[in-house]
Amino acid sequence: MKTKLLIIIIILVAISLYAISKSNIFVESNSCVGCSDCTGVCPTNAIEIIDGKAIIDAELCIDCEICISSCTYKAIRKNK
Ligand code: SF4
Ligand code: SF4
Repeated sequence: MKTKLLIIIIILVAISLYAISKSNIFVESNSCVGCSDCTGVCPTNAIEIIDGKAIIDAELCIDCEICISSCTYKAIRKNK
C-alpha cells in the first residue's frame, strides 16, 4: 500500500515539474526578421537565432516576458 502511494506521489511530482518547465513564450516565425534584439535581453540565454529566426529554448525560458517588449516586430508572444 505504501509503495503504491509512493509511486503515485512520484508520478504527480514528475508531472508537475514537467508542466512548470514548459514555457508559454513563443516566436511567431513569420514576423521574426532575425534582428537579434531579443537575444541580448534574455536573462537565461534562452533565445538563439537559427537560420535567421529567433528560437526559444523552452527548457531555459523562465517566462519572464522581458523579450516580448524588446521585439519591435511583435514577433514574440505568450500563450494565453
Ligand atoms: S527581436 Fe523579434 S524580430 Fe528580432 S530576432 Fe527577436 S523575435 Fe525576431
Ligand atoms: S520570456 Fe524571459 S526567459 Fe523566456 S525567452 Fe523571453 S527573456 Fe528569455
